Amino acid sequence: MVEQVSKRVAVSSGGAEAGRQGPKAEKGGVVRALILDDDPALCQLFSRLAADVGFIPRSTTSRAQFDLEFHDAVPELVVLDLHLGDTDGIEVLRFLSAAGYVKPVILVSGADPRVLMASSRLGKELHLNIAGVVAKPARAAELRDVFAAAYATIQPLSLDRLLAAIPADELELEFQPIVDAKSRKPVSVEALVRWAHPTLGRIAPDRFIPLAERDPACITALTDWVVRSAARAAVELAAAGYLLPVAINVSAHNVRDLEFPERMQGILRSMKVDPGRLMVEVTETAAFGDPIRTTDVLVRLRLKGVDLAIDDFGTGYSSLSALKQLPFSVLKIDKSFVSDLTTSRDSYAIAKSAADLARNMGLGTIAEGVENEETARILSEFGVDHLQGYLISYPLPLARLLLWLRNEDAPG
Ligand code: C2E
Ligand code: CA
Ligand code: CA
Repeated sequence: MVEQVSKRVAVSSGGAEAGRQGPKAEKGGVVRALILDDDPALCQLFSRLAADVGFIPRSTTSRAQFDLEFHDAVPELVVLDLHLGDTDGIEVLRFLSAAGYVKPVILVSGADPRVLMASSRLGKELHLNIAGVVAKPARAAELRDVFAAAYATIQPLSLDRLLAAIPADELELEFQPIVDAKSRKPVSVEALVRWAHPTLGRIAPDRFIPLAERDPACITALTDWVVRSAARAAVELAAAGYLLPVAINVSAHNVRDLEFPERMQGILRSMKVDPGRLMVEVTETAAFGDPIRTTDVLVRLRLKGVDLAIDDFGTGYSSLSALKQLPFSVLKIDKSFVSDLTTSRDSYAIAKSAADLARNMGLGTIAEGVENEETARILSEFGVDHLQGYLISYPLPLARLLLWLRNEDAPG
């Protein structure tokens, strides 16, 4: 029941899609989120997730502090735990209503799901904009989605602005370590792009990659930027003594672009980076649609020495034929089957079959979205080679990745 409610996350539709290309996209400023929860650990988690999707978070465990912060700078989002120590969330809802607050409010509660639904109804009757309800314990991924959806309704983005962001060097890569399932030693990293917007803060790729994909010139420029930056990271990693391959993500347009393999090779040559240091991750959805061109591009990437992974395996419609027809060497089991492996029999079965299939086809396997030890242990029993997920590490900027790697080297 709790699980069900946490999934029944309602986010008010604010016309994000329609507004994305609109002229008002540039008007935004700092997007503050104010979080009130009596559990400091949850304050920290909510802040982290809110920051991930672009908010500048402030959190507090004290009602009095909340009121002060609220009046100091009215936030664009309020995240409210209904179950507070010395007061209850309903009082806070009344406070917000009295203040005439119209921006999104997300309610969180570990109480009976019916309490949550009733509170949400009450909030709406108080003319508040209840943008989402989340039952505890909620999974980080779900919470993040609620925050991201709330953010998207507040700050639409424009394609023109994104096109300008690439040469202006506003994009950044973070690197998430991937480790051997048995020894837990680092084996590679995945590069994930972020947009460090000067006024909107950090924007997650889920918000701007779909926008970039609407324009071939934009996604081409973005992917070329990613190739160059990932190659630069590979050079820095090597200089620090870590010869770890760096995986990059590419879009459907890139794998149909007949010039992409030569361009990627040109970039790597000019930077004196061996193509074997980079790996390309392609989702099966991206890999299909134009099988002749895609095969042409992917085969030539392989011939040039770049390894290929099939990403988000199991989420598209043609996973099996993609595997049979395209020259992949690694299969990445999608996080939707990994993160609830210990509680969902279906996910357990799918993850296990994917691991078996990869082994029988002679492919390496990476499980992404590994969030706890129990999951890591089961995956290791399935024979999965490598693990990636918050259990091991969050994605990190290069300098912090280097510290993390050094720490892993340290004895004990
Ligand atoms: P993806 O390729 O499936 O990347 C994995 C996503 O899972 C990342 O989200 C990562 O931060 C997140 N993640 C890692 N460990 C865990 C975990 O334990 N639990 C959960 N719940 N999530 C975890 P991120 O960085 O927000 O990227 C989202 C998607 O954006 C990526 O999904 C990829 O499809 C796309 N993307 C990221 N960078 C690029 C890029 O440079 N180019 C293109 N075309 N797409 C990119
Ligand atoms: Ca990926
Ligand atoms: Ca994935």
